[in-house]
Amino acid sequence: LWAIIRDELQRSLTPVGYKTWVTTAKPIALNQNQLIIEVPEDLQKDYWERNLATKVVEFVYQHTGGEITPIIQTATHAETPLTTTISPKEAMGERNTATITPTFMRPTHLNSRYTFDTFVTGKGNQMAHAAALVVSEEPGTMYNPLFFYGGVGLGKTHLMHAIGHQMLTLRPDAKVKYVTSEAFANDFINSIQTRQQEQFRQEYRSVDLLLVDDIQFFADKEGTQEEFFHTFNALYDDKKQIVLTSDRLPNEIPKLQERLVSRFKWGLSVDITPPDLETRIAILRNKADAEQLQIPDETLSYIAGQIDSNIRELEGALVRVQAYATMKHLTITTSLAADALKNLKLAGKNNQLSIADIQNEVAKYYEVSVAELKGKKRVKTIVMPRQIAMYLARELTDNSLPKIGKSFGGKDHTTVIHAHEKIAQALEQNERLQNDVRELKNNLRSN
Ligand code: ADP
Ligand code: MG
Repeated sequence: LWAIIRDELQRSLTPVGYKTWVTTAKPIALNQNQLIIEVPEDLQKDYWERNLATKVVEFVYQHTGGEITPIIQTATHAETPLTTTISPKEAMGERNTATITPTFMRPTHLNSRYTFDTFVTGKGNQMAHAAALVVSEEPGTMYNPLFFYGGVGLGKTHLMHAIGHQMLTLRPDAKVKYVTSEAFANDFINSIQTRQQEQFRQEYRSVDLLLVDDIQFFADKEGTQEEFFHTFNALYDDKKQIVLTSDRLPNEIPKLQERLVSRFKWGLSVDITPPDLETRIAILRNKADAEQLQIPDETLSYIAGQIDSNIRELEGALVRVQAYATMKHLTITTSLAADALKNLKLAGKNNQLSIADIQNEVAKYYEVSVAELKGKKRVKTIVMPRQIAMYLARELTDNSLPKIGKSFGGKDHTTVIHAHEKIAQALEQNERLQNDVRELKNNLRSN
């Protein structure tokens, strides 16, 4: 029975939809007319209950003439589910949604490489991917806004574009707009200078899907935040989908207005974490195939083992290996890859400042001890250097706020935010501090 259901679902869904919702689901039991289906997370459960359960009822009825009640439960917290019984008749009345016409694509500002097809899923991005798929199919209703956060090069921008592409595939007449937060700010400022605010509003408030990338750069832009607040409200009230990304959670973005923070939390926030080895290998394999590179699996595993956090760097490493092989007129092997990446790693090591480097330098500069920087003593001669060290750790390294807090004797991430803000503000007026920070940065660079 499951095989029938699976085949029918495959026929009625997009390939990516099938992969996301159906291949992750398992039939657990069939008791009388109850079919228990297990899915990984609540997100899939919701989707099944809203969209797929009725289809299952319908397919089973068509094939067997029998009635069935699908019960969807999650693998993590299997509980006695609330059952809604759907009769075949109701199910038949359902419109058949997923008919896809991948015909033409009008020119957009979307990168054509960033689609769901080219996006490899793994532990770190599965939730984000599934949520992205939901909003592209059901914009404005389920998760609004959808908020992705996570480190650099982990696929936030890619997923955002994929939502845009998918929505245009499903609804070719939809109006999709992708901007970075800086582009939004520039557009806004230009509109004031050229007295075209009406056009600006018209442009931003008439879209079906607004994608705003890297909103951490809204920090410090009061007027832009104000305008974005109104754009957000207009779209939200119209049930238009908004998707946002940032390198951190809204409440961790310094100087982001409270009312924006609270709105950004209305929908769903999903983090993207670095991919595990398996996923990294799969990404490299995909990329190598797309570029028709002949690379042994073993070599891909090697490369994936060398770079473990950032997918952009992972792709960069592959390009580097390829270029190296071309230059040397050699085929790509593991030892060639090792050679090609040796210099890269050295260069990377040199540039990569650690929090400890910063603490040492700041301690030396202000003649305090590293232990005091990490300690709790609240005397001025220590508090200031401590905050400067936190500020520099935030500015000069990729470490997360919690990680920085931890490196300072287990302090809370809000302490780090506070320190960062304090110093950033002081830097605006205090010339002495400006000099100190400049000198510290210089010393750190030449180390
Ligand atoms: P972010 O916006 O989070 O900094 P990007 O979306 O720009 O990251 O991704 C960086 C690069 O890595 C892009 O070239 C993107 O296509 C690629 N990439 C990221 N995640 C994946 C993935 N899961 N599968 C395939 N490619 C990916
Ligand atoms: Mg990005």
